[in-house]
Amino acid sequence: MERLLEQLKAIVGAKGVVESPSISAVGNWRGHPYDSPLLLRPETSEQVAAILQLCNQHQQPIVIHGGLTGMVGGTSTASTEITLSLERMRKIETIDKLGRTMTVEAGVRLQEIQQAAAAENLFFALDLGARGSATIGGNIATNAGGNQVIRYGMTREQVLGLEVVLADGTVLSSMNHLLKNNAGYDLKQLFIGSEGTLGVVTKAVLRLRPAMPARNTALVGCDQFDKLPRLLGHIESALGGKLSAFEAIWDNYYQLATQGPHLGAAPLSERHPYYALIESTGNDGEAEAQVFLGALESALEQGLIVDAVLAKSEKEQQDLWAIRDNIDSLAAIAPVIIFDVGLPIEAMEDYLKHIESELRHQLGLNQLAVFGHLGDSNLHIVVGTETEDINVYHRVEELLYAPLQALGGSISAEHGIGLEKKRYLHYSRSTEEIAAMGKLKKAFDPNNILNPGKII
Ligand SMILES: Cc1cc2nc3c(=O)[nH]c(=O)nc-3n(C[C@H](O)[C@H](O)[C@H](O)COP(=O)(O)OP(=O)(O)OC[C@H]3O[C@@H](n4cnc5c(N)ncnc54)[C@H](O)[C@@H]3O)c2cc1C
Repeated sequence: MERLLEQLKAIVGAKGVVESPSISAVGNWRGHPYDSPLLLRPETSEQVAAILQLCNQHQQPIVIHGGLTGMVGGTSTASTEITLSLERMRKIETIDKLGRTMTVEAGVRLQEIQQAAAAENLFFALDLGARGSATIGGNIATNAGGNQVIRYGMTREQVLGLEVVLADGTVLSSMNHLLKNNAGYDLKQLFIGSEGTLGVVTKAVLRLRPAMPARNTALVGCDQFDKLPRLLGHIESALGGKLSAFEAIWDNYYQLATQGPHLGAAPLSERHPYYALIESTGNDGEAEAQVFLGALESALEQGLIVDAVLAKSEKEQQDLWAIRDNIDSLAAIAPVIIFDVGLPIEAMEDYLKHIESELRHQLGLNQLAVFGHLGDSNLHIVVGTETEDINVYHRVEELLYAPLQALGGSISAEHGIGLEKKRYLHYSRSTEEIAAMGKLKKAFDPNNILNPGKII
């Protein structure tokens, strides 16, 4: 291995090498190990290709690192694995204002992309709480969801073209700029959401949209769960396609999230079982504010909501979002497992009642915090486990994942599978689907060098 390591170091030069790296990841809630002997930081796609070619020849496993905000242990690295980080590939190459595209290297941070688009009066329609650290390569590899899926779809919908380096070092350039291109298989789709198991994303052509400078944001209180989907339907039709976020928050999360030291008092004076953070975006400030207000008023009249606070400034909008994004407040019930399940809205209430009761009766656990992208049928359920015992983790996971199968639900709506959910994949995918995934993996990475052991 020594000789191989020297050859790999020569490819990237001194600046591209970190020996015995010490890495701590933002989303590494479960303390996955990072024991890699060598971190390589290539600067170009050609260097990535040379690294993979050499690793493939020597059957040397390699783990890909973006911004390390992933939630499922996908960047966990063993002592026999080399790490490849895209952190030095951070160029925004071009912005095509007319064609509304941006061409970027994979290591560019999501927030930098959002800011670069805004500077050209354009808009990149992906947003999530880890925007300051997550890279676009990681977003693509995980097909990240986030706060605006209800209007714009997941990362997949924001990507027009990709450059990917395959396990054998082949540079597969599919840098398409067109919105429509049905010339044969759309190969990029294979790599979006493949969590680094099929290839290394090195560049992307991103789809931009016109800027939507007018934003209306409200937090509302709701007294019954079944009113939330009705409220969603009401708001969607009242806003005529302008709804950009509909985030549901259960009172158990609201109570934690409004108590952080950096937050002011809870914006709604009364407690409610459920809350929804609702946002519309557009470009006609005054008219849209009126429509937004009207939609809330009629929701009040129909009894769909019992309370509402409307943000009157950008600062107030940020304060409302800070509640939704106050993941740090979960420390109050740590250690926790953060679930990211998908299930039909109409099944959510019964599912939550069921798991709450099972957690209490089977494991004596009663710390739960729930919030989620309700409009995308996606719930984040946070369970306080009172212990870091892996056996307890597995019992809790089994308890939450098993019922999803009968509901046609998903064990991962947006975070991916990585290492953490691998053992439960069969609850969401059939034997045939998992076998087909295995065939794809074999075809693209016959020596199993890319993120080995992740997903399948
Ligand atoms: C506070 C917080 C909020 C979050 N909110 C959301 C949310 O709303 N929606 C959501 O979907 N996720 C969310 N996440 C999870 C996370 O931010 C996303 O999964 C993100 O897309 C990961 O990007 P990253 O650059 O950090 O990737 P990493 O964590 O570095 O990697 C994630 C996976 O992608 C692979 N990978 C990384 N870069 C590449 C590349 N260039 N080529 C091939 N494979 C690669 C890695 O090997 C790993 O398997 C959140 C995380 C945090 C901490």
